[in-house]
Amino acid sequence: MNYEQTFEEIYNDLQHVEESGHVADYITELAQVDPDQFGVHLTTVEQEEYSFGDAEKRFSVQSIAKVFSFVMAYSTIKSNIWERTNLEPAGTPFNSLLQLEHDRGIPRNPFINAGALVVCDILVSELASPKENMLAFIHRLSGNNRISFNPAVAHSEKKAGNRNYAMIYLMKSFGNIRNDIETVMDLYFHLCSIEMSCKELSRTFLFLANNGVIPWSGERILSPSRTKRTNALMQTCGFYDEAGQFTFKVGLPGKSGVGGGIVALHPEKYAIAVWSPRLNTKGNSHKGMLFLEEFTTKTRLSIF
Ligand code: GLU
Repeated sequence: MNYEQTFEEIYNDLQHVEESGHVADYITELAQVDPDQFGVHLTTVEQEEYSFGDAEKRFSVQSIAKVFSFVMAYSTIKSNIWERTNLEPAGTPFNSLLQLEHDRGIPRNPFINAGALVVCDILVSELASPKENMLAFIHRLSGNNRISFNPAVAHSEKKAGNRNYAMIYLMKSFGNIRNDIETVMDLYFHLCSIEMSCKELSRTFLFLANNGVIPWSGERILSPSRTKRTNALMQTCGFYDEAGQFTFKVGLPGKSGVGGGIVALHPEKYAIAVWSPRLNTKGNSHKGMLFLEEFTTKTRLSIF
């Protein structure tokens, strides 16, 4: 299939859609991003690659990185993650405190902020150098050791991090945070600050489309069963309180971030990353969602 032509057609169709939404502006680094950039990259499990637009330009992956922290804990850590976080869709915004009080400090899932904070706490308990180990893990998944944190973004996240601090203190009050709060927050803020391009993201997520094995190295990251479960979590919890819409319209497991990136994958077929910085009211890329909806409709390559 000539995906590049399909990308261009969809991109041109979307030029007629009225611009809506704004770039994330809670930190200056995100507020200053040119909102009209657009990139998409698809990598098949056979490692064919298809690109369009700003596919090699790096951006802040933000909550997409919550998949990396989760997979790292799920694949390497002995403790039972499911005693510390639930696995149900939240149905509330990513930084909501409402359910945490009700659920006695147990987050609804590992892909909302509270869940990612608990995963970071688990990683801090078990890793000698959590930030370095996290980056090394992403280098393994991506086959690219130039991927890194953006320290200025991590610093700004901390300055704007009041709600995240509120969540972690609330969870600590229920005994669901075991480590020093600043150490856990430092890992979390650095996780949010990772920068990658669409090309790098689609390659990095490819193991989840390939039964848990990195196609180019043959390295197994997750068992087939855990790969299935990770994809199921992305399907049900990957898009804040818009996971139902994304499933309904796009029909792929995936994860978004407030940097305007979305990664989605089709098991046994491909991983695709799209980037368009303007966000809809739920915090997902406005055009990114529309693009993927048209992509799976035109190609009939959704899982449903
Ligand atoms: N850095 C953001 C926060 O913790 C995460 C935003 C996102 O969902 O992408 O508030």
